[in-house]
Amino acid sequence: MDHLPVRFNPAELARSGRATQITLPVSHFARFSATLADDSGEVVIDATFGWTEDRLPVAAGSQTSKVNVTCQRCQKPMASEITSQFRLVFIATESDASELPDDTDPVVMGESEDISVVDFIEDELILQLPVRVVHEVESECDPTVLAVLGGEKSGEKEASAGTHNPFKGLDELLKN
Ligand SMILES: [Zn+2]
Repeated sequence: MDHLPVRFNPAELARSGRATQITLPVSHFARFSATLADDSGEVVIDATFGWTEDRLPVAAGSQTSKVNVTCQRCQKPMASEITSQFRLVFIATESDASELPDDTDPVVMGESEDISVVDFIEDELILQLPVRVVHEVESECDPTVLAVLGGEKSGEKEASAGTHNPFKGLDELLKN
C-alpha cells in the first residue's frame, strides 16, 4: 500500500491504479472538526485510484474517523468511530456532476490538476456524521448535567411512554 500524499494529482494516481492510504489528524479538517466536540482524533483514508467508463479519475475506498462528538443528552464529549465507503469521481466543474452514475459523488477540481486530501474527503466526513449522538446508556452521561436538564429528560420519557400527546391542544382547538 502506497502513502497518499497530502496533495495529489488524481489523474496521475489513476494511471498507476495504486492503492493508497493516509492518516491525518482531525485538526486538519476545519469544517469537519467545527461540527465535533473538539479537534482531537484522526482520520484514516484508504483509496484506490482508477478510471470511470468516461475516463474520469475515480477514487474508491473507505474512511475511518476516530473523533469526539458531543452527546446530545448531557452535552459532554464522547468518543465515536465512524466508517464509510466512498466512490468519488474527480470532475472539472459542478455541471459535469449530472453525468455521473448514482453510486458516485463528485469532487470538483476547478482549474487545478491536483487537490489536497482535505478538499477531497471533507464533505464525505461531514455527510457521514450521525444526526443525533448520545451516550449508549444514560448512566454514561454526566449526572450533574442530567440533573440540571431534569425537565427535558422527563419530557423525553413521557413521549416514549406514549402518555404525552403533542396534538392534544390541537384536538381541543378543533372541537371549538
Ligand atoms: Zn451523555
